[in-house]
Amino acid sequence: MADPKAKPGIVWFRNDLRVQDHRALKAAAAAGPVVPVFIFDTVAMGRWPLGGASRWWLHQSLEALADELVKRDSRLVLQHGDAASVLLDLVAATGAETVYCSRAYEPWAAAQEASVKARLAKAGITLKRYAGALLFEPEALRTKAGDPFKVYTPFWRAATAGPPPPEPQPAAKTLPAPNVWPKSERLEAWQLLPRKPDWSGGFKAAWTPGYAGARARLDRFLTDALATYPDDRNRPDLKGSSGLSPHLHFGEITPHICWHAARAHAAAHATPAAALETFLKELAWREFSYHLLVHWPTLPEAPFKPEFAAFPWRDDATHLKAWQTGRTGYPIVDAGMRELWTTGWMHNRVRMITASFLIKHLLQPWQAGAAWFWDTLVDADLASNSASWQWVAGSGADAAPYFRIFNPVLQGEKFDPDGAYVRRWVPELVRLPSALIHQPWAAPREILAAAGVVLGKTYPAPIVEHAAARAAALAALQAMSRS
Ligand code: FAD
Repeated sequence: MADPKAKPGIVWFRNDLRVQDHRALKAAAAAGPVVPVFIFDTVAMGRWPLGGASRWWLHQSLEALADELVKRDSRLVLQHGDAASVLLDLVAATGAETVYCSRAYEPWAAAQEASVKARLAKAGITLKRYAGALLFEPEALRTKAGDPFKVYTPFWRAATAGPPPPEPQPAAKTLPAPNVWPKSERLEAWQLLPRKPDWSGGFKAAWTPGYAGARARLDRFLTDALATYPDDRNRPDLKGSSGLSPHLHFGEITPHICWHAARAHAAAHATPAAALETFLKELAWREFSYHLLVHWPTLPEAPFKPEFAAFPWRDDATHLKAWQTGRTGYPIVDAGMRELWTTGWMHNRVRMITASFLIKHLLQPWQAGAAWFWDTLVDADLASNSASWQWVAGSGADAAPYFRIFNPVLQGEKFDPDGAYVRRWVPELVRLPSALIHQPWAAPREILAAAGVVLGKTYPAPIVEHAAARAAALAALQAMSRS
C-alpha cells in the first residue's frame, strides 16, 4: 500500500506505453503518488526521428495509454522538449524525488538516458531504471568466450538454457494521484497525424493501437493461428502470423505476456510443440536484433561485415521510386509495397522478397530500403529493421549469403499459390488466371486482353529482367570481393 504522504514519483514513459506488466509503474505506485509523463524529445532521436507511420501510431497509442490511466484515477502528462530539462521542471513542480523508467535500447535512447541520469543526480534526484521490453537483457547472454552472439541459433540455445522469462505482472486497479497535477500539453499540438493529404484511412481500418487492441490480436492469434503457425506464417494470403509487431515496438504489450500466454494456450489446447517453439523463436529474433544493436550500435548505418562498404551500389532514383510505389512490374513485390503504403505493415515473407528485389535486382543500397521502411512501417524498429535489412543484404551478422537471390516469380507462386494476396493489393491483375498472376508478361496476348491487362499501360512491364538482374548482382558481388 502506498504511503499517501510520500513524495510523488514521476514515471517517465518511453516505448512502454501500457499499464499492464510495467515494473517501473508498479514500483512507483508502491512508493507513493504517481505522476505519469510522456516527453516528446525530437532532438534526442538525432538521425532517427519518427517516421510518418510511427508518428500516427504514437498519437493513437498515447491516447489509449491516457484512457487506461484515467480508468485508474490517474492521467498522462504530455510535455515536449529536452527530457532532462522537462523532468527537472516536473520535479520542481511536484516535489518528486525519484523518476522511474523502463530501459530503452536504441543507441540514442541509451545516450539520452545517461544524460538524464547525470542531470537528475546533480539535482539530488534518483533515476530508477527497470528492464525494458526484452525477455533477455542484451548483456545477460554471452558466448562461452564471453562475447556477444553474432549467430542466432546459439543465441536461442543460450536464451532458453536459463530460467524462463519473468511472468507478467497484472496492472494496478488504481494509481495514487499527486495533490497537484502539473500542466500538460495537448497531444494535437504535436501534430503527429497526417493532415493534407490524410493517408491514414488504411491504418485506421487495420489497427487498434493500445493494450486492448494488442491483447485482442494476441488472443485471436492464439485461438486461430498458433497451431498452424510454422506453415501459415509464410503465407501472405492467410492470417497466419500475429500482427503484434507495432504493439511490441511501442511497448503496448510485453514479449513476456506473449511468451507466457502462448505457452499457457499451447498447454491447454495440446498445440503441437513445434508450433509453439516456432512462435517463441520468432519472438527471439526480435531479441537477437536488439542484442546486435546494443553490442554493435552502428548497425543501422554501417554494414556489419565491413567488406560490404566496397559494394558497387547503384543510385537510381527512378528504380527506387518504382519500388517505393509498387510499380516494378513484379506482382508480389508491388503487392507488398502497396500493402505497406496502405496499412503501414507488410508480411514478413514479402518484406524479404521486396528487400531482396531492391538490393539484388535493382542494386540499390540496403540503407535506402531501410529508410523507406523506417518512414512507412507502423512497427519501424531500429533494431529489427536494421538487422533484417542487413540480413537480406548479406552484410549482416548471421546473414543470408548475398548470392542467394530470391526469384520473385517462384516466391510468389510458392507463398501466394492462388494469387489472392496479389489480387488484393494489385487490383489491375485481378482477372488474370492464378497460373500467370505472378508473371503477367508470360501470359498470351488473348489472356491479357480477356483480363483487361495492357502491360506498360494498365500495369507496368518488369523494370528489370530477372536473369539479367541476377547476373548483374553476382557480378557486383565479385567486384566487391576483388576490391
Ligand atoms: P509474427 O510472425 O507473429 O512474430 C511475432 C513477433 O516476433 C513479431 O511481432 C516481431 O516482434 C517478432 N519477429 C518475428 N519475426 C521477426 C524477425 N525476422 N526479426 C525480428 N523480429 C521478429 N520487424 C519489426 O518489428 N520492425 C521492423 O522495422 C522490421 N523491419 C523488417 C525489415 C525487413 C527487410 C525484414 C525482412 C523484416 C523486418 N522485420 C521488422 C521483421 C518481421 O518482418 C516483422 O517483425 C514481422 O513481419 C511482424 O509481423 P507479425 O507481428 O505478424 O510477426
